[in-house]
Amino acid sequence: MRPATWLIHAGQGGGEPQAFTTVAPPVQRASTLLLPDAAALYDRAGPTYGRQGLATHAALTEALCALEGAEHVELYGSGLAALSGAMLAVLNAGDHVLVADGVYGPTRRFCDVTLRRFSIAVDYFPVRASAEQVLALARPATRLIVMESPASLTFEVQDAPAVAAAARERGILTLLDNTYAAGQLFRPLEHGVDLSVQALTKYVGGHADTFMGSVAVRDPALAARLRAMSAEAGWATSPDDAWLILRGLRTLDVRLARHGENGLAVARWLEGRPEVARVLHPALASSPDRALFSRLFSAPCGLFGVVLKPAARASVDSFLNALRLFGLGFSWGGFESLAIAADRQLKRTAEPWRGEGPLLRLHVGLEDPADLTADLDQAFAALAPV
Ligand SMILES: *Cc1c(COP(=O)(O)O)cnc(C)c1O
Repeated sequence: MRPATWLIHAGQGGGEPQAFTTVAPPVQRASTLLLPDAAALYDRAGPTYGRQGLATHAALTEALCALEGAEHVELYGSGLAALSGAMLAVLNAGDHVLVADGVYGPTRRFCDVTLRRFSIAVDYFPVRASAEQVLALARPATRLIVMESPASLTFEVQDAPAVAAAARERGILTLLDNTYAAGQLFRPLEHGVDLSVQALTKYVGGHADTFMGSVAVRDPALAARLRAMSAEAGWATSPDDAWLILRGLRTLDVRLARHGENGLAVARWLEGRPEVARVLHPALASSPDRALFSRLFSAPCGLFGVVLKPAARASVDSFLNALRLFGLGFSWGGFESLAIAADRQLKRTAEPWRGEGPLLRLHVGLEDPADLTADLDQAFAALAPV
């Protein structure tokens, strides 16, 4: 062989892949798969093209199946892509969808803009609506109920198992955005929910450096539909990102436990502050959702809301600007503490949000909670109540 040829083919076997046993899987990067023979080119049993996901993806989805108690996990390029992808996979023109009023803002935007563009009707129900109240809004065309519990930004808890059971009786599918629980603190599939969705970007990734989302299902027909939709649309995820998410998953249990403890410590401290009207944390004794939360969730994560007593926006901004340990930024679930002003993200239509004053959202990281409360304490000096 001449140089131009051997440069292409030398080392193509990559050594014996089975020769080394490593703790973490290899990052298998490929568009093209080399198939063993001509018959295998059109054999649908296994992957024939890299877009379908290779060894790294297989290791991650196997681990996520165990986490979620699922038969199949479909991966997407972000949490939002998992939510929109699941809906596109199961909905048809003319269908009707019921959506919880407290869903993640971009989920609402996808429903309002894209679903309606494809002639799918959307109605919203109040965040704490009972199963009877939700199902009372169902029509013959209702195909899907979309929940998120606790609600984004305000953390109301919904009885998702009751909604799932009532929906199943009516032949309606249920989807739950379970990002808060990271697939672990609450396990939707065990409670009858059909599609368990999460932004792996948050706690599973855990380091604020990777986007990915997942949809976990038990029903083989739903699994086939999710797979087919991804193939039809050409959705694929990077093996490097799958590797990072799997690395994060290894420490999910210990990180989540610490986030939850630190979050409760900071939330309890905030409840004693004169600047605070209410802390929106479903595990606090003061929460109207506490009984339901402790029945469904094994523990809280590190995310919660804080309603301040009335204060001007400029004063809230001064408080945020004075924070030193809490970063100002979107997303959450990484190892670090974050704060945002959240009022401008609230878009309720089924029931207006009633807060005594400005709404903040805090993500409590793995720092020592005493340092975090000291940081909040010094920043409160910049907050002038009206
Ligand atoms: C962040 C978030 C998403 C979206 O995840 P991305 O990976 O950022 O697209 C979806 N749902 C909830 C509840 C979230 O907090």
